[in-house]
Amino acid sequence: MSDLWRMTGHAAHEGLRAREFSAVELTQSVLDRVAEVEARVHSYVTVTAELALEQARAADAMFASGTASPLTGLPVAVKDLIVTKGVRTTAGSRILENFVPPYDSHVYEQIRRAGAVMVGKANMDEFAMGSSTEHSAFGPTHNPWDLSLVPGGSSGGSAAAVAAGECLIALGSDTGGSIRQPAGLCGVVGLDPTYGRVSRFGIIAFGSSLDQVGPIGRDVEDVATMLDCIGGHDPRDSTTNPEPMPDMRAYLGRDIRGLRVGVPREYFIPGMQPGVRAQFEAALKTLESLGAEVDLSLSLPSTEHALAVYYIIAPCEASANLARYDGVKYGFSDRTGPTMWANMEATRAAGFGPEVKRRIMLGTFALSAGYYDAYYLKAQKVRTLINREFAAAFAKYDVIVTPTSPTVAFPIGAKVEDPFAMYLNDIYTIPASVAGLPSMNVPCGLSEGLPVGLQIIGNFFDEGRVISAGHAFERATGFANRLPEIA
Ligand code: GLN
Repeated sequence: MSDLWRMTGHAAHEGLRAREFSAVELTQSVLDRVAEVEARVHSYVTVTAELALEQARAADAMFASGTASPLTGLPVAVKDLIVTKGVRTTAGSRILENFVPPYDSHVYEQIRRAGAVMVGKANMDEFAMGSSTEHSAFGPTHNPWDLSLVPGGSSGGSAAAVAAGECLIALGSDTGGSIRQPAGLCGVVGLDPTYGRVSRFGIIAFGSSLDQVGPIGRDVEDVATMLDCIGGHDPRDSTTNPEPMPDMRAYLGRDIRGLRVGVPREYFIPGMQPGVRAQFEAALKTLESLGAEVDLSLSLPSTEHALAVYYIIAPCEASANLARYDGVKYGFSDRTGPTMWANMEATRAAGFGPEVKRRIMLGTFALSAGYYDAYYLKAQKVRTLINREFAAAFAKYDVIVTPTSPTVAFPIGAKVEDPFAMYLNDIYTIPASVAGLPSMNVPCGLSEGLPVGLQIIGNFFDEGRVISAGHAFERATGFANRLPEIA
């Protein structure tokens, strides 16, 4: 019983259904694991042990009454920008250190109703700005594969919790790579759904035209199960797709013979580590062995502009979204100054960390009178070009595959003083985000003992095909649910 935390969500579901163990026992096993490793990994900002046990008892009652669903009783980590009623939600920031939301986000409401068990609120880069979780105001998360390394970010706490056994499944969010990159660096599966697939109601906003919540799990099946629970139309987010979402689990176990796979040549950049390249090339061979038609002639020439476009659009949207943290209505407030303006300045100066301030200044500058056309408007036009290139590619291909990151996990402290080096880690994930396309990280092997991820990008609202491809690939590699020994 003590090793229940090692199970995938679907295996645990079978065990719960067969009454081999209870949701309380499963939850206790995960909480014991948290007690064992959390001081070293630091996946969580807040552990909600009591609530978890209470939800586990309710889950056992759902099994007893025949109202259980595939998520019932499964221990879940929830990224700390997902608003949870009555449970502190910080977004990794001092400015929200004591913020206890009065309402639930759509996604938390969905998993709560399904009977999931929340283990805690997962650590993250402040306001999701970062690629290493070092920008959390509450200290960095450590990569379970090697504690001296970053787990990636900004959903580093969510990915590390899944890899460390501190939950079975997690919710993260992705603006430019924040689900896929940490999933890649921690050797787990992470899916960034199509923009508009999952409601953003109750998600603390970073870049509103880019943000999307998605699942992180130990294998593709768990990710599909979680998407089934959180996806679909929500009248409280007008950008969600009103069409009913197909059952994502139905895409598991499909044959991928004849799948047309495009490999964009622009992704073979000098910054790609040789070990990443070797694993990526092996992944292409695996896809071919499954009967996929892998074509290396795809060209997406605007790829080189995606990073620049993102680092205009995301900070512009952030500067507007973060204007609300003024110390007046909620969050941290410094009221010692002589005027309202002085207080606002002092609140924001003390409440935001350096990366958040950098983004606010970049965004405010790019949106200011006289610069708007030169930066924001131009970036939006290039965004359209990137979208058109992807649209043309999807006329020829079913999915596009790339590495998820150019490198494996890097040491804590290595890039934190060099924003540009940090931004470059998202060079492979940002183009799909800019276009709003669904994309998934699936582990494809190890390089020098560290996980390397394959990114599978699909057409709009075609998560199903991404899941089919990822599931077939995962079965062929046998890498699913491989958990590291924590030193
Ligand atoms: N690392 C990127 C950034 O810093 C993407 C973050 C994200 O997806 N939230 O903006």
